[in-house]
Amino acid sequence: MSPAKTGQPDRRQELMVTTPPVSALELDDMLTRLRLTAIRDQLDNLLEEAARKELNLREALAWLCAAEIARKDQRRIAMAMSIAKFPFVRTLEGFEYEAQPSLDPGQIRELATCRWVANGDTLLLLGPPGVGKTHLAVALGREAVSKGYTVQYVSAMELISTLARAHNQTALESRLSQYGKSKLLIIDELGYLPLEPDAAHLFFQLISRRYERGSVLITSNRPVMEWGEVFGDQVVATAILDRLLHHSHVLTVRGDSYRLREKRRSGLIKSSSAVRTIPATGEEGSP
Ligand code: ADP
Ligand code: MG
Repeated sequence: MSPAKTGQPDRRQELMVTTPPVSALELDDMLTRLRLTAIRDQLDNLLEEAARKELNLREALAWLCAAEIARKDQRRIAMAMSIAKFPFVRTLEGFEYEAQPSLDPGQIRELATCRWVANGDTLLLLGPPGVGKTHLAVALGREAVSKGYTVQYVSAMELISTLARAHNQTALESRLSQYGKSKLLIIDELGYLPLEPDAAHLFFQLISRRYERGSVLITSNRPVMEWGEVFGDQVVATAILDRLLHHSHVLTVRGDSYRLREKRRSGLIKSSSAVRTIPATGEEGSP
């Protein structure tokens, strides 16, 4: 039976339409149309490499696809990194464990697998200023992005003031859903500065919304026992912690500020107790 009668496309005709030769320009256009831009941009090199490796057609096709996927992954990660709004670039490779003996490198490596993000767990990074909490938060956030999770970074101050403003303008719902949608929300530097009067209630609403849905990473210079004071409301702080600590990992970083270690070395300051009397350096806007 002819293809017209069966309603099936005529495979011979299909082949005739797409059979080469095509000019370099036509091929370029086809690759552009298919959005195969990595193959298009590196075509000569890729084909030369495939010939050098004596790949057969199927292997060569897989090799080209791999080049395209690598470029698309790179773009996706770059886009997700900019959406995350990290304040600066910090990586786990750039973290010196010798400078921070209170941390277990094995535990950080385990966190870097992002299983805790997949599970929707909470991570609390607690400790005094300058010990690397923000560095680790950003570095773990970047690991999560590179593993395909959506991440959002925000300072505690900005988060609370944004929610408070939205609350006054009856736009709280849309703000809460904006902070609720990423798989990991990093809230940096809770407890450094006094919070707005409504902070505890707003924070509670956010945490309730994310509870058992998405992960939260919080850094704070105050131990959880003092969060009643931080929020100015013991009852609501307890309710917040009840949810946060249900599935959680708590890392308490101890020791001296990394920022001030040069000053310590030069004998300008002596101990971590002396550090508190020195004004903050203000590096990168952190306390
Ligand atoms: P915190 O958030 O605890 O106040 P930061 O993470 O902001 O401290 O650290 C202050 C500065 O010192 C940052 O520039 C950070 O990259 C750097 N830093 C802190 N600890 C380390 C470390 N162990 N290895 C490398 N850099 C560090
Ligand atoms: Mg910090």
